[in-house]
Amino acid sequence: QAKERGKAQSIAFEDEMRVWPVTPLDLDSDLRRALERDEMRLHYQPIIDMRSGKLAGFEALMRWYHAERGEISPVEFIPVAEETGSIFTLSQWALRTAATQITEWNKARPATEQLEISVNLSGRQFARPDAVSGIIDCLDGVGLPANLLKIEITESTLMEDVDRSTEMLDRLKAADIKICVDDFGTGYSSLSYLHTFPIDTLKIDKSFIQDMTSNYQNLEIVRTITMLGQNLRLDVIAEGVETSEQLAQLRALDCHYAQGFLFSRPIGADQVAAFLAEDKSW
Ligand code: C2E
Ligand code: MG
Ligand code: MG
Ligand code: MG
Repeated sequence: QAKERGKAQSIAFEDEMRVWPVTPLDLDSDLRRALERDEMRLHYQPIIDMRSGKLAGFEALMRWYHAERGEISPVEFIPVAEETGSIFTLSQWALRTAATQITEWNKARPATEQLEISVNLSGRQFARPDAVSGIIDCLDGVGLPANLLKIEITESTLMEDVDRSTEMLDRLKAADIKICVDDFGTGYSSLSYLHTFPIDTLKIDKSFIQDMTSNYQNLEIVRTITMLGQNLRLDVIAEGVETSEQLAQLRALDCHYAQGFLFSRPIGADQVAAFLAEDKSW
C-alpha cells in the first residue's frame, strides 16, 4: 500500500494537472469521521404503485458530502466502508435516520396510506449474525411497524451463501420485516432458491429497464421477470424508469411498482414535505 502511494505521489508531482488519486485508504479515515463531521445525508427516492398511480414509499440512499472533495458516490464509498468495517456504523445510522423520518411523515397520513421505507443492506452486514436483531432493536426504538420496513439485498449477496441467506431471511420474515431482492437479473440466482426464500419483492435491475424500448431482448427479460413475480406471488418493482415510453411498456406488462428519475430523483429530507404535499399521481 505504501509503495502504491509512493508511486501515485511521484506521478502527481510529475504532472501538475493530474488529480490526486483517491485511494481506499484515504477514504477510509475520512469515512470514519464522516458522521461526526455531519457529512452524511440520506436521500429518499419515491416508489410508485402503478396500479393506483400513487406513492407507495421511498428508498433511502446514502449521500456523502466530503468537506474537501465534494459529493462522493455510494458506488465509490460503500465498497470501501464494507472492506474496512465502517459500514456497520454507517448503516446503523442510515436505518435509524430512515425509520425516524418515515415515522414522522406517516404521522400526517391516514392509516390506509402509510408509506414503506426501503433500506439497502450490504453483503458484509448481511453476513453478521446480529444483523437481524440490530434491525429489530432499531424498529422498536423508533416505533416503526415492522411491515413498513423493507430490506433490500442484492441477488448476488443472497446467492453467496444460500444456507446463511435462508436463515437470515427467515428471521427477518419472522419479525414481519419485508424483503426485496435488489438488482434482480444481474446475479445468478437459481429459480428453485427464489421459490424457497421468503421474499416479498423483486426489483428489476435498471440496466434492463434502461433500453427496453430499443432492445427487444431486454424487453423480454423484463416481461419474464414480471411474469415470474406474478407466478410466485411476489411484488415487482422496475428500477431506473426514466421515460414515459418505459412507463407505458411497464404498465402494459402489468408491472406493479416503479422507481426512477421520471417520477423523481432521490431527494433530501427537506424536499420530501413539498413532494408529499403535491400528492401527485401517475
Ligand atoms: P441501488 O440500491 O440499486 O439503488 C438504486 C440506484 O439507482 C441509486 O443510485 C439511484 O439514485 C439510482 N437511480 C434511481 N433511479 C434512476 C434512474 O431513473 N436512472 C438512473 N440512471 N439511476 C437511477 P445511488 O444512490 O448512486 O446508489 C448506488 C448504490 O449504492 C445503490 O444501488 C446501493 O447498492 C448502494 N447504496 C446506496 N445507499 C446505500 C446504503 O444506505 N447502504 C448500502 N449498503 N448501500 C447503499
Ligand atoms: Mg436498492
Ligand atoms: Mg438496484
Ligand atoms: Mg445496485
